[in-house]
Amino acid sequence: MLVVFDSPSSATRAAERLRDDGVVVHLFADGQPAVLAVVAHGPGSEALRALDGVVEVREPGPFLSTLSAGAPLVVDVAGVAFGGAALPVIAGPCSVDDEGRVEHIAHAVRDAGAALLRAGVTKVRTHPYGWNGPGKDALRPLRDTGRTAGLPVVSEVLGESDVDAFAESVDLLQVGARNMQNIPLLRRLGRTRRPVLLKRGFGCTVDELLGAADHVLSAGNPSVILCERGIRSFEHGVRFSLDLSALALLKTRTRLPVVVDPSHAAGDARLVAALAKGAVAAGADGLLVEVHDDPARARSDREQALTLDAFRGLMTDVARVAAAVGRTLHPPLPERP
Ligand code: PEP
Ligand code: MN
Repeated sequence: MLVVFDSPSSATRAAERLRDDGVVVHLFADGQPAVLAVVAHGPGSEALRALDGVVEVREPGPFLSTLSAGAPLVVDVAGVAFGGAALPVIAGPCSVDDEGRVEHIAHAVRDAGAALLRAGVTKVRTHPYGWNGPGKDALRPLRDTGRTAGLPVVSEVLGESDVDAFAESVDLLQVGARNMQNIPLLRRLGRTRRPVLLKRGFGCTVDELLGAADHVLSAGNPSVILCERGIRSFEHGVRFSLDLSALALLKTRTRLPVVVDPSHAAGDARLVAALAKGAVAAGADGLLVEVHDDPARARSDREQALTLDAFRGLMTDVARVAAAVGRTLHPPLPERP
């Protein structure tokens, strides 16, 4: 339940009183409006309505993520801002399949204008026979590779027990589509100070995505970036159907930044540029693109990986589309080394 107050001071007073009574609450007094999320052991809505300074009590639903929709929230990832006028592009291989290779890819995508390096170290695969990634031991080398290239790093964390190890090494913790409703994981991520990249489950609605984001936010982590990565449809010509309607809808419903992953939607490198340009035109706050220096040798998702050349071309095209909708890339292409 969310309780909206007329001022931060009444919200703070109510929070203290409820906490004294053993109620689990989260106070968001710095936002507009000031809000208290009553998470557990709370009194009923009538009793909450009677507290001093209460404007409104909102019943369950995806709430925190929808507060002040329209006023964009900027999420900072190691100095890279998501949700502002400039769009960061996250790029890199699906998985770390060879460290030297990742280093080469990292420098190349940075030179092409990427703002963050992505690479999975523990992979969940549709079938149990595929490459599962090199494991958590690859986290530190991945972080060092990112540092050497000057890029913050994002990698997918699969379970609660891995959160600390990942949070030590990566700058942005990715929740994969298959894990979007792993509630214990989301709650655990709510207790880290690292920002979270929450990918939409391919069978999940926008409301369910916002509900998942609320699990992270209500557990205390305000830094969530949403990611549309395609949903299951009747169309089998593509791996998933990129849902640009969801992007447009999310823009009306939440102030959290929304990035788009055209690679996992397309499942085919030839389609990635069109989807990426469409996403930027439709208001995406960033992109996540799989890139490999030798896609044929990638150990996961090789069909959708862009070559380094294709990625360079994509960045030029995407910068033009961004300019056409009054935005830029971060970093801006002319400042690239
Ligand atoms: C990935 O980013 O490599 C990935 C597995 O994505 P998703 O969870 O969207 O399938
Ligand atoms: Mn992948």
